Amino acid sequence: MYVCGPTVDNLPHLGHGRFTLVWDVARRWFTFRGLDVTYVSNITDIDDKIIARALQEDRSTSEVAVTYEDEWWQAMDRLGVARPDEAPHATDYVAEMIELISSFLENDIAYVISDGVYFDVSRVPDYGLLAGQPLESLRAGARIEASDEKRSPLDFALWKNAKPGEPSWPAPFGDGRPGWHTECVVMSLGLLGEGFDLHTGGLDLRFPHHENERAQAVAAGRVFSTHWDHNGWVMVGDEKMSKSLGNFTSLTHLAETSDPRAYRLLVLRSHYRSPIEVTLETIADAERALARLDALARRFQLPALAGDTLEVASSHEWEGDGAALFEEVGAVLDDDLNTPLAVALLFDALAAANSAADAGDLARARRLAFALNGLFGALGLALHSQGADVDDVSADLVTRRDVAREHKDWAEADRLRNELVTLGWVVEDSATGTLIRRP
Ligand SMILES: [Zn+2]
Repeated sequence: MYVCGPTVDNLPHLGHGRFTLVWDVARRWFTFRGLDVTYVSNITDIDDKIIARALQEDRSTSEVAVTYEDEWWQAMDRLGVARPDEAPHATDYVAEMIELISSFLENDIAYVISDGVYFDVSRVPDYGLLAGQPLESLRAGARIEASDEKRSPLDFALWKNAKPGEPSWPAPFGDGRPGWHTECVVMSLGLLGEGFDLHTGGLDLRFPHHENERAQAVAAGRVFSTHWDHNGWVMVGDEKMSKSLGNFTSLTHLAETSDPRAYRLLVLRSHYRSPIEVTLETIADAERALARLDALARRFQLPALAGDTLEVASSHEWEGDGAALFEEVGAVLDDDLNTPLAVALLFDALAAANSAADAGDLARARRLAFALNGLFGALGLALHSQGADVDDVSADLVTRRDVAREHKDWAEADRLRNELVTLGWVVEDSATGTLIRRP
């Protein structure tokens, strides 16, 4: 699978967090189901925005790209997004891009105007397939600029001629740098080969970015991705989140100020193609849900799964109620990755596990808890239990205290805290519930 990656000109924002989490979950689920996944996601390290940032910061474009790529991986690691198998850099593929552009010029699929080389979209008969609109209606809606030398307003830049002070590469059609749409088609075909299975990205990339990638593959006579899929917007308040709208919100900040698992759970609670709303309230709500999961992990001393390991839990033995839960949730996830329904079923299982334990059926409770832990692990969400030295009585007090706090029964919460202190624990409150440790 090829996932369109970031342009590294700034700190990653919430929209970046969503697409990486959505496709990380998809990758993990495919892997859990036994598919052999090769995950490629690029780094765009040359672009107008990087050049603008370099001017603003009085640094070179490569320094800017290195700085923000470093920030990118730090944020990804914090979110528990597994590293791609390949993370190609656009600047490493310029020779291949020049070769592709030259072949388009030879075949009159591209043409030269004063500022660069452009692709003639009328040469691709089914242009508009991904947009879901024929060429004529796209053309009618396109913005026409007075000075435009292009044959059609939909034609796009394959190559931008060098301007003074900007980085450039030599090419037979003039020194310059590649256009963004050419980068991804060259890198995806170069690393995955023709007819790869899945090309994804945010919904904002469907048109024109993915349309234009596909147009180039078609024009070059190459079989491109056989499936396309796009994840929904991030809403901040009522508006779609994007840098141009000014409601830029840093993913780095979010991952530092909340439990980094909260954004993953928030993403899982919505279908990947639906918009999600990221606010302090929705994040805090996800943290409260995590507290319930962690309380279960403490009660049953569940091992923490997920993290860097993609192949979690598939070796687990599922029995009885656990096997039934696995079947039910697995079927839901196989159906277009219906994570909101899967999460709802898993929280039902959490309640059932606690009820079974309260009623003394510890065997059933443990089967449910272990299956739940394995399935969350398969989606990249690790549950946090205490260290292995927490005894059952103390773990139970912790769970009861978290429940009391959830119901704002402060008197009961204080009483349970005192019981834990009497047993020799240091008791701390965290965003995800009560933590206990030995002094
Ligand atoms: Zn792309």
